[in-house]
Amino acid sequence: MSAPLRPELSIVVPLYNEEESLPLLVEQLLASLRPLGRPFELVLVDDGSSDGTASVLRVMAAQTPELVAMVLRRNYGQTPAMSAGFDASRGDLIVTLDGDLQNDPADIPMLLEQLEQGYDLVSGWRYQRQDDGLSRLLPSRLANRLIAKVTGVRLHDYGCSLKAYRRELVEDISLYGELHRFLPALAFIEGARITEVKVNHKARQFGQSKYGIDRTFRVLMDLLTVWFMKRFLTRPMHVFGFGGLASIALGLVLALYLLAEKLLANADIGNRPLLLVAVLAIVAGVQLFCFGLLAELQMRTYHESQGRPIYRVRETLRGSGAF
Ligand code: UDP
Ligand code: MG
Repeated sequence: MSAPLRPELSIVVPLYNEEESLPLLVEQLLASLRPLGRPFELVLVDDGSSDGTASVLRVMAAQTPELVAMVLRRNYGQTPAMSAGFDASRGDLIVTLDGDLQNDPADIPMLLEQLEQGYDLVSGWRYQRQDDGLSRLLPSRLANRLIAKVTGVRLHDYGCSLKAYRRELVEDISLYGELHRFLPALAFIEGARITEVKVNHKARQFGQSKYGIDRTFRVLMDLLTVWFMKRFLTRPMHVFGFGGLASIALGLVLALYLLAEKLLANADIGNRPLLLVAVLAIVAGVQLFCFGLLAELQMRTYHESQGRPIYRVRETLRGSGAF
């Protein structure tokens, strides 16, 4: 029997200065995946580490047939590293996790089970999170609440890297910046069925976290982007155009009212604050309206240049084709 050409399952892990964790990580991944009896690959991406991660990776690749080792030229960040792993992966199912042993590879079969139930994306929920201190947990809790509210995807924990996806989903989403955290929200925009399962979480054994408190603010900015994408990606004019027209209408009503006073009561309207409001409302309205038109053009270019369809098909059923 020859080996299958393509693995069913790809595990994608970004690594930045994780030389101490790496051997244990591979060992634990193999221990939980080999017994499943389905072909898999481990796509491990060294994100330009300054420690010995790349050399450990090379040694492990020589010893492990399932391993696909990638070494990026410099440190790009977690999202590009994951994106590189996605592009190199071949499995129909993709699982991501962190390379610092904080996620437990033993949870992977549970995530896969949920995919088999028909979900497109299964997200881990670190319900007993082992990260030190309120300074990490509190901002994260607030951010999770806010993200759930704004994106409409009801998950408890967006920051957990342990997730499982169907391949089509990952291919539909183009990642950039630090948007890997919003993959569930972006997937939801693409019409994915999403669920979450409780997973283990361990304290970091080696090395240190690559992020500080400033991450909270960057996450909030990214959230604004995602919110905008969700609401306006295909119809910016509906929002800006409507606001613009409403503002122009308000300005005109006020201006007419002032005009009536001037003509009927011969009132002196030159120094009325209301005049200022009327003029501002009209000018702002025209601006909003034009902005909506520009955004509309911009989105048109965006969609056409990407060859990005404005819909996603879950399935197409055809008759037998016997006419
Ligand atoms: N990571 C990466 N490139 C970076 C920063 C982080 O590939 O520039 C990897 C890192 O090695 C780890 C994962 O992304 O596997 C998550 O990073 P970390 O554990 O520092 O984040 P935290 O768990 O503190 O949220
Ligand atoms: Mg970590």
